[in-house]
Amino acid sequence: MKSKFCPNCGSNNVVNKIPEGDTHSRQVCMDCNYIEYENPKIVVGSVCTFKNKFLMCKRAIDPQKGLWTLPAGYLENNESVQDGAIREAYEEAYAKIRINNLLAIYSLHHISQIQILFHSELIEENIKPGIESLEVGLFEWENIHWDKIAFPSVKWALDNFRERQNLDTFKVFSNP
Ligand SMILES: [Zn+2]
Repeated sequence: MKSKFCPNCGSNNVVNKIPEGDTHSRQVCMDCNYIEYENPKIVVGSVCTFKNKFLMCKRAIDPQKGLWTLPAGYLENNESVQDGAIREAYEEAYAKIRINNLLAIYSLHHISQIQILFHSELIEENIKPGIESLEVGLFEWENIHWDKIAFPSVKWALDNFRERQNLDTFKVFSNP
């Protein structure tokens, strides 16, 4: 509960406490007993390929502005993880993609974030920077800006895709 008012009854009699039978401290309304649960944020995205190239986006916003990332972002309410990954690719690179497989799930518990990464394929080669990107491009593996990668999970996902590429068996990767 970010506001000091209870979202259920509007009371401002909200305190931080461990509810009976619970293990974590929560914001609890003392008038109606509403409990606010704060849970991890979910990030969805994809390693998007076109032939032997990878779609990368140069971030136009902080954090890590000017560094390269995969099309990914926060899942919206009432949105499937696949639709979220498709939306993010369009928002960041005007890329029309098709979701192939689940590639990896990373649990970034230090920042309470779960990342769900797919392998996707670009349907049309036309891409251009969306509002959150300074530049977008299709790069062969060797030409990816490895020294300017925005987040560790971007490298994990690319490496996991590379590892996965020639395997027959289905395998979902998690954090190293
Ligand atoms: Zn209340």
